[in-house]
Amino acid sequence: MSVKRKRYFLTEEEMPKQWYNIQADMVNKPQPMLDPKSGKPVDVDTLSRLISREAAEQELNMTDSWIDIPEPVQEMYNYYRSTPLVRAYGLEEALGTPAHIYFKNESVSPVGSHKLNSALPQAYYCKREGTTNITTETGAGQWGTALSYASKVFGLECAVYQVKISYNQKPYRRSVMQAFGAQVTPSPSMSTRAGKDILTLYPNHQGSLGTAISEAVELAMTTPNCKYALGSVMSHVSLHQTIIGLEAEKQMEKAGEYPDVVIGCFGGGSNFSGISFPFMRHNILEGKKTRFIAAEPESCPKLTHGRFCYDFGDESGYTPLMPMFSLGHTFRPANIHAGGLRYHGAGVIVSQLLKDGLMEAVDISQLQSFDAGLLFAKAEGIIPAPESCHAIAATIAEAVKCRESREQKVILFNLSGHGLMDMAAYDQYLSGSLTNYSVSDEEITKALESIETR
Ligand SMILES: *Cc1c(COP(=O)(O)O)cnc(C)c1O
Repeated sequence: MSVKRKRYFLTEEEMPKQWYNIQADMVNKPQPMLDPKSGKPVDVDTLSRLISREAAEQELNMTDSWIDIPEPVQEMYNYYRSTPLVRAYGLEEALGTPAHIYFKNESVSPVGSHKLNSALPQAYYCKREGTTNITTETGAGQWGTALSYASKVFGLECAVYQVKISYNQKPYRRSVMQAFGAQVTPSPSMSTRAGKDILTLYPNHQGSLGTAISEAVELAMTTPNCKYALGSVMSHVSLHQTIIGLEAEKQMEKAGEYPDVVIGCFGGGSNFSGISFPFMRHNILEGKKTRFIAAEPESCPKLTHGRFCYDFGDESGYTPLMPMFSLGHTFRPANIHAGGLRYHGAGVIVSQLLKDGLMEAVDISQLQSFDAGLLFAKAEGIIPAPESCHAIAATIAEAVKCRESREQKVILFNLSGHGLMDMAAYDQYLSGSLTNYSVSDEEITKALESIETR
């Protein structure tokens, strides 16, 4: 038994002062988002009716590789960053692998996940542009929590539409958002036209991300000085998350290593992008051969079983059409515990990168993810978020391959959050009542039809 443990940090001076915009360096740029009515590419003016102008500009910026992090955001980053880069000696020993495993621990942010990295700049830009109110949807509650706190920091009123079933099943998530001063409404609600319409048709509707997005978008469009903010999928969110990989690059340098494999779990793509893009830059510009693996749930396999096409970002078809890997916007993922990974599509940048063979994807079953999470918890003393367990499972698979081939590869993965608010899920796993949800080819074919027949 080894008690060797090692973590790497950056000083304030060493902290990155800019985010990395991979769009500028991509040989094949993402195809444009399209307005479903006119069929024309969406421009900054249209986007900035919904989100802050600065975020809209970042979304469509294909020319600047580096974008300054505003000073107030740097200040807040310094409050909890750099996050530790950890050499996972415990996990290596448990697996008996010659691989060197490192993880970036984003669970140490005040709200417990990487989501704050983008909530802070989004709230800051809104404030700077004279916005007073901000609104969003939340499923599992991580994004709503991060935006509630970021709104408090920059003095904005925050309204969160939380999917009704999660509002009722995860009351503590709601309490956390309320503790930060946010107004939390279970969706569908009677406070919007969209919510009323749904409740008139289905009085017992338990809500979905689709309904919650529709309500938040409607509130933003009909309330003066109110903007909408997204926690994943969009390219500006991935941009903000590159702080993870930029720090990791410097920290790996301190450790005297460079990753052969980089792994992240995948919902809409923001934490995977964040850890990957700064390293992928060296693949694109200098021909380095690092592999990048996105780990998605078997029950929502858009990267491994979906199709690259134009599709809506939400269930109701309110968003622009996005060129992405998708299972169809009407696809309803099973109610797995990794709520943050239950999304039918993938961000436009990651979709293009996967299409071009710059990254790979694997799907992980729910039981496999919790097997991995428990092994990690015992080895490293951290309860991982159910989402992060998918990255750990993919990491373990790679490390076991190294054991068999006796290769001393360097593997880096992102621990996107802790699971201390998800103990009900761990309880089910430990009592043996947790199950897998795989999707049949028929179900996928049927969901994909919603794209073709549009
Ligand atoms: C939201 C969330 C995810 C998934 O979102 P991405 O945008 O794909 O990163 C993963 N892990 C945690 C802890 C989350 O809260």
